[in-house]
Amino acid sequence: MSPILLKIDGAKVQAQEGMSVWEAAASVGIAIPSLCLHGQLEPYGACRVCMVEVEVKGWTRLVASCCYPVEPDLVVRTRSTKIDKIRKTILELLLAHAPDSPQLKAMGQEYGANPNRFEKEASFCVHCGLCVRYCAEVKKLNVVGFVDRGTRREIGFIPELAAKECWNCKECFPLCPTSALQAAYVLTEALYAPHPFPKS
Ligand code: SF4
Repeated sequence: MSPILLKIDGAKVQAQEGMSVWEAAASVGIAIPSLCLHGQLEPYGACRVCMVEVEVKGWTRLVASCCYPVEPDLVVRTRSTKIDKIRKTILELLLAHAPDSPQLKAMGQEYGANPNRFEKEASFCVHCGLCVRYCAEVKKLNVVGFVDRGTRREIGFIPELAAKECWNCKECFPLCPTSALQAAYVLTEALYAPHPFPKS
């Protein structure tokens, strides 16, 4: 398989077919921030923090680098005034959901995000999907999933399955960049109180 040559932030990069722009950048030490990317999971492109600018035959557009495949002669910019401004706004929107998230706060500081720019939305879930995808893709269990749509979208555990599977697993807990997952689990436990969950 012949290598694919592209340019990232002015550097010539040799990538392999099937790699994403995020992976190609990482292969030469260029770190693109992301919230929903995880080494064991399929790319999801949900958080949009990894947005970069790509240029193909003179046309530029903004793409989620975790999902965008490398192609020959692609020109990629991972930092610019425009990209930093977009990341700043995305982080401000995410911080409105989870203002106390250490991960979000650190990212926000790097991009000068104002955590008070948008009205607070007390869901705490930033819809990164890490918990849902980890449970489905790695554990093959589907105990936790998204419920409802649009602004009412949130995650929820299936109580009967959670009582059986989660008490000695909880591998998804450290993946959550906010406290939403733990809160949802505690709520599920409480709602299921007539049939207490086993304790690990
Ligand atoms: S609960 Fe946490 S891990 Fe799950 S989708 Fe929401 S923010 Fe992501």
